[in-house]
Amino acid sequence: MENIYDKTFESLEEYFLSLNEKKFKANQLYSWLYDKKIKSFDEITDIKKPIIERLKEDFTIGDIKLVNVEKDELVNKYLFELNDNEHVESVLMRHDYGTSVCVSSQVGCNMGCKFCESGRRKKVRNLTSGEMTEQILKIEEDIKEKVTHVVIMGIGEPFDNYENVTNFIKIINHAKGLAIGSRHITLSTCGIAPKIREFASFPYQVNLALSLHAPNDELRNKIMPINKAYPLKEVMNALKYYYKETNRRITFEYIMLDNINDSEDNAKELCKLLKGFNCYINLIPYNETNNIDFKRTKKDKILKFYDIIKKNDMNVTIRKEFGSNISAACGQLRSKKEDLWNHFI
Ligand code: SAH
Repeated sequence: MENIYDKTFESLEEYFLSLNEKKFKANQLYSWLYDKKIKSFDEITDIKKPIIERLKEDFTIGDIKLVNVEKDELVNKYLFELNDNEHVESVLMRHDYGTSVCVSSQVGCNMGCKFCESGRRKKVRNLTSGEMTEQILKIEEDIKEKVTHVVIMGIGEPFDNYENVTNFIKIINHAKGLAIGSRHITLSTCGIAPKIREFASFPYQVNLALSLHAPNDELRNKIMPINKAYPLKEVMNALKYYYKETNRRITFEYIMLDNINDSEDNAKELCKLLKGFNCYINLIPYNETNNIDFKRTKKDKILKFYDIIKKNDMNVTIRKEFGSNISAACGQLRSKKEDLWNHFI
């Protein structure tokens, strides 16, 4: 059975039309789901009985179950169980500007970035748009507050699950859905060039981030296998096209990996690569994992790297750290329950 949270507003309108009902029912149903947060279709009072019965035949209300929460001062990490017994994690972060949720988009990930814990398990399947939407709904229910920002930076490569991810954005952005402003939604990709181009015509003003992590192909090939399929030139051309079409500034994420990509020459190369491109550069202190091949660059070296970029008049920031105490930081999320995982590695 289909999950009702998979439905975009428009597809729900079509559904009601197909039943010879007024499409306005989509409006009513969306407010029951996202405003009144019903758990059963029987709670609906303004739609007549036969239609409610039909909804019950056609849809479930929700497919995922919250099974564990770990709470730190500013961060909560959530473990969800999916209805095929798979698991994903999401993270809630409290900022001064609001609360943001880092959503997972796949069970496992096929991109194989060497430094990332989430990719240690191959992709098992894509998450549906409903499973992504529910991560936010369940977190809102837990904290009894509205989530204001969403980053699609959890487990998975969102552009390897394009349709569900874009439907998810439509659902959470809809005024009758979760009403999360498009400028408060950020999608992060490892650089699937054709999808970046396709995303240029997705008519929602969301933010795009690219996981760059290396300023040249030789190095990027070593740590991010996707670079062999879409080398830097191809990715940069796709991003330039995206910028031309949308006029939206792209964020380049750059993890600082000790003695791998953090030399002064690397900083200069990075400036050369991004020169003239209206963008933001976000330097990310690496979150160490069980993988001993990668260590975090020391603070003073990060600052030196930062200074070189700054002197080149580029917009650069160093990412504030979140959640490493409870392994909830970038690249530390896993798609297996911890106890199972321990046997796995
Ligand atoms: N597949 C997408 C989104 C998921 S990863 C992407 O590649 O962008 C989200 C971000 O966390 C990416 O920039 C990723 O490279 C980064 N990341 C992965 N492992 C990390 C780690 N251990 N420490 C810090 N950032 C990490």
